[in-house]
Amino acid sequence: MAMNRIQFQTGLSLPSFLEQYGTEAQCEAALESVRWHQGFRCPACGEAGHYVLKDKTHKTFQCKGCRVQTSLIAGTLFHSTYLALTVWFLAIYWSVKPRRACQFWR
Ligand SMILES: [Zn+2]
Repeated sequence: MAMNRIQFQTGLSLPSFLEQYGTEAQCEAALESVRWHQGFRCPACGEAGHYVLKDKTHKTFQCKGCRVQTSLIAGTLFHSTYLALTVWFLAIYWSVKPRRACQFWR
């Protein structure tokens, strides 16, 4: 039987993970690059032009075309939660149990 290379990849160590996704800004940047990998697109009209409105905790994206507002987490797994993205990312990290991370704690 052929070895599944994805199943046996080593994954990130916990220190490497925290270095890449340890802050809210890093998690937001990662989510934004995955969600809108070719740049922001309005979910209502597809317009690329937008404003970024930022309060203490969240960035809101407002379309220049139709003025619809959306957030980075709207329509994603993280929608309607109050947990920080760092908590979500860490939970996802532990749920996939990368071998190196487990070895780190032995
Ligand atoms: Zn729009």
